[in-house]
Amino acid sequence: MSLPPLVGHRETRRRLARSVRAGTLPQVLLFTGPTGVGKQRLALWLAQLVLCERGGDEPCGTCRACRLVEGLAHADLHWFVPVLRPKAGDPDKQVEEAAETIAGVMEERRKRPLYTAPDGMAIHSIATARLLQRRMALTSVEGGRRVFIVGEADRLVPQESSPEAANATLKLLEEPPVGALIVLTTLDPRRVLPTIRSRAAPVRLNRLSDDEVRGFLAQHTEPRWGREKIEERVALASGSIGAALSEGEDAGKAYRSAEQLLAAVVEGRGAALERALGQATFAARGDFAAMLDALAETLGEAARGTMGQPVRRSVPAPLLRHRSPGPLLLAMEKVAEAREAAAGNVNPQVLLAVLGEDLAEVL
Ligand SMILES: [Zn+2]
Repeated sequence: MSLPPLVGHRETRRRLARSVRAGTLPQVLLFTGPTGVGKQRLALWLAQLVLCERGGDEPCGTCRACRLVEGLAHADLHWFVPVLRPKAGDPDKQVEEAAETIAGVMEERRKRPLYTAPDGMAIHSIATARLLQRRMALTSVEGGRRVFIVGEADRLVPQESSPEAANATLKLLEEPPVGALIVLTTLDPRRVLPTIRSRAAPVRLNRLSDDEVRGFLAQHTEPRWGREKIEERVALASGSIGAALSEGEDAGKAYRSAEQLLAAVVEGRGAALERALGQATFAARGDFAAMLDALAETLGEAARGTMGQPVRRSVPAPLLRHRSPGPLLLAMEKVAEAREAAAGNVNPQVLLAVLGEDLAEVL
């Protein structure tokens, strides 16, 4: 068994199960919600539900189909995760390379079901889009439905050399093959291509409760965490199992850099900001992208704070003095722009210098 247990989202599960039973489940769904609350896990649950041979409100967990899904070995379940761009030059070779890399990730997940966020530079390249097309063109192996999960669909990069491949993918979403169910997941629907967004039925997932995160950590960490560590992580996780698991590792580093940068920004333009920008160096593009994500998350947390909601992540105090979330939301947009540019070939240091100035202006 490879899948960690699904936690929470009970109402959403009930609604999805009802649609499956009634035959009204849309063919293309977009699961949105914070990082680490189980969007892809829920997509796998839905795959198991529609493939299950018994057909109840929950997958039975014991039939052949359920067991194959649990082992990530069902021939009609295709799970696409972002990977680093293929290195091969030839387009066909690129598709093969993408298929192999994704298969490698699946192999890893069978061994270690709990995973943290992928490398910041991992994407769904044109090669992955082509692979998706090819797989969709096949017929069902088991004779039933086929399920395609595209995790972090905002990392689908269409504007590369070949718009045809992206267009073909969009066409598939517009008119999916009979019997195919496509589930896309994303942290932020605004980052998903509007053409894709408009074709998918949105399903919004919320943060988990602290109790749900606590319960998961108490039972499924390996080696098992002690009570103190669990409480510490629950307090920082803001209802995200993914955050609870990755806190203190790379994610912790990204949040610390983001916080330092924001602290310098609110001091205003000048020596402190220049020093902070100079000190923040990024060995890997992935680290830079992770820092930008942490920056957006921290600003979002501050925005919640200005609306009187509890702030659970460390946020530079001056950010909370804004009377409305407006400036913080504007700052988040600036970060989103930088995040997009970071996927291209821009030097992180240059990008950061511009972003620092932009943030100093709005905050
Ligand atoms: Zn079953």
